[in-house]
Amino acid sequence: MISNKLVSIVLPAYNESENIIKVCSEIDNIFKKINYSHEIILVADGCTDNTMETIQHLIVNNNHVFFIEFSRNFGHQLALKAGLDHAKGDCVISMDCDLQHPPELIPELLKEWETGFEIVYTIRLEDKKLPFAKRISSNLFYKTLNSLSDVELETGSADFRLIDKKVISVIRNFNENEPFLRGLFKWMGFKQTSIEYAPCPRQFGKSKYSVKKMLKFALQGVTSFSIKPLYAATYIGFTLSILSILYVPYVLYAYHSGKEVSGWSSTIITIVFFGGLQLIILGIIGIYIGKMFMQVKSRPNYIIRSTNIKE
Ligand code: UDP
Ligand code: MG
Repeated sequence: MISNKLVSIVLPAYNESENIIKVCSEIDNIFKKINYSHEIILVADGCTDNTMETIQHLIVNNNHVFFIEFSRNFGHQLALKAGLDHAKGDCVISMDCDLQHPPELIPELLKEWETGFEIVYTIRLEDKKLPFAKRISSNLFYKTLNSLSDVELETGSADFRLIDKKVISVIRNFNENEPFLRGLFKWMGFKQTSIEYAPCPRQFGKSKYSVKKMLKFALQGVTSFSIKPLYAATYIGFTLSILSILYVPYVLYAYHSGKEVSGWSSTIITIVFFGGLQLIILGIIGIYIGKMFMQVKSRPNYIIRSTNIKE
């Protein structure tokens, strides 16, 4: 029996010209073996290599391949969001285009979907070959996020998931300036399940997440999901004020007993410590104000330079 369900595959791509052809052909091969039709949406996120030329070649003979070209680099999350906004399928599968998310998992995702799950996310098993720093930072990322925000994310739940069109129509109305999709989907509810997979090494090129980008992503993850850091700042403030009140009797005692005040180093340490602390707390407040500022302007979240998708 031929199923006439359409599956959209969304692939964000930032300078991935070497990977695109390979990932598309692997996806096509998978769909030859299963009874679904499919479309591929490549989102070129401000590429500076010849990703766009590669895509132009690809679409000549493949009328199931679509592209969205951003006017500049808007980042992985917004590239994904753009793909979801334009997908026409009965469900959407988002994955990286460096083949770290194995296309062989697509039939399994679809199987779970057919049993009634509306979001099927994947959990990456720990990859021993990954650089030590990347593994540690990834673990730390999920631990911090879970303790500081109100959503619970499993370690290794990346942006490789299947989403039903019901959920897609809800997420389209989200107008977050800095969406943190893995948290948002978890937060949305619906019937969710997960499957595990062993990650593959990146096919070509380097990771597009520098340490700076990862740090920014982690901060965005926490601050777009919770205001707990603001509370933490308040608690730290209170604790330190109480501690400093406790210090007063000692100061008075030292004054009255005529002890030599030789406290240059303790003064400096206190100034430096509290100076730093205040800056940190101001920074935390600043991040939230910055987020409000960006959101209040309600600029479009991403700008499309060209596309072959017809509305
Ligand atoms: N990506 C993107 N915009 C960016 C950074 C990354 O669209 O600014 C894409 C990238 O092309 C890839 C996916 O997001 O398809 C994941 O990026 P990457 O593989 O570099 O991250 P890692 O797997 O190292 O965490
Ligand atoms: Mg990757």
